Amino acid sequence: MRIDIITIFPEYFGPLGVSLIGKAAARGDIEFRVHDLRQWAHDIHRTVDDAPFGGGPGMVMKAQVWAEALEDVAPPVPGRPVVPGPRLIVPTPSGVPFTQARAASYTRCPQLIFACGRYEGIDARFIDEARSRMPVDEVSIGDYVLAGGEAAVLVMVEAIGRLLPGVLGNERSARDDSFGGAAAGGEAASAADTASAGDGDAGSGPLSGSGPLSGSGPLSGSGPLSGSGPLSGSGPPAGAGTLAGGAADADASMAGLLEGPVYTRPRVWRGREVPDVLLSGDHAAIARWRRDAALLRTAANRPDLIWRAAADPGALSGRDWQVLSAMGLSGLIRPDPAR
Ligand code: SAH
Repeated sequence: MRIDIITIFPEYFGPLGVSLIGKAAARGDIEFRVHDLRQWAHDIHRTVDDAPFGGGPGMVMKAQVWAEALEDVAPPVPGRPVVPGPRLIVPTPSGVPFTQARAASYTRCPQLIFACGRYEGIDARFIDEARSRMPVDEVSIGDYVLAGGEAAVLVMVEAIGRLLPGVLGNERSARDDSFGGAAAGGEAASAADTASAGDGDAGSGPLSGSGPLSGSGPLSGSGPLSGSGPLSGSGPPAGAGTLAGGAADADASMAGLLEGPVYTRPRVWRGREVPDVLLSGDHAAIARWRRDAALLRTAANRPDLIWRAAADPGALSGRDWQVLSAMGLSGLIRPDPAR
């Protein structure tokens, strides 16, 4: 995949050389090209902005400089738009939400071009014109206002990049992540196929997934794993975790849910034990426990996702409904009478 980033602060993108994304770039799986917008400004001050029509505070980025930048980065091809071809992504707080599903859909694009706005944003005519020759998405990374699109682009590139084949090293971990059902090639990977804004938001929300929950905690206090035995297989089989009983009918994916707590060695740390079921070696019981924990965490931190799952026939199993009502959450949602 080729990723072009147009910005007035190219130095902002040093972190793209670090960690998983840096390694993917070094291998050639992602080719980054960061462009300084000011090279397309013609006056002596390399001006890229001007006062807004209609008055008001702040400055607006000029259409002309952006148009010339885009024409150089993705030269117009006569005739119909190339499919699949370049796709322009314009970060803006007024855009459609950036979600795991959208990230997954972007993994199928051969070239993504990110236009980092500053000030009050970019003259809307540039975006309208760009739309006449390539798909354009105005995308928000959350309900807050940043000073520029650069940080938003780093967020999006990292979310997209880790879903590219081979980048994460373990394909399963993307599926098991919060919102994991939207991994690359998943059911929601259609956003990039259509140019309309607002699609591709299949059941996921802004990045989330942590928060205080009794019995859970961040990874901490553990040493390196090398030299010690497997995590499973010791101790007697334990019960099915947060809630005993019920069939182990856990859905393997975390589609639409947040991932629950995770643990590593040692088994007892400062008097706090890892839940027995995780040591049982009983894969069905572990899967069920993880599903229960995901439901619990999602209900606590993102009840909107539970409501959405509840409205989606097939998203929650009979056992899931049992778990939710045992948590006292049946008042939050209206169970599907068919179940
Ligand atoms: N006046 C604009 C805000 C401009 S913020 C408005 O109210 O909509 C300046 C730039 O920061 C934007 O052009 C955009 O590139 C970036 N930005 C700010 N918040 C963002 C968000 N939540 N998601 C994505 N980009 C954002």
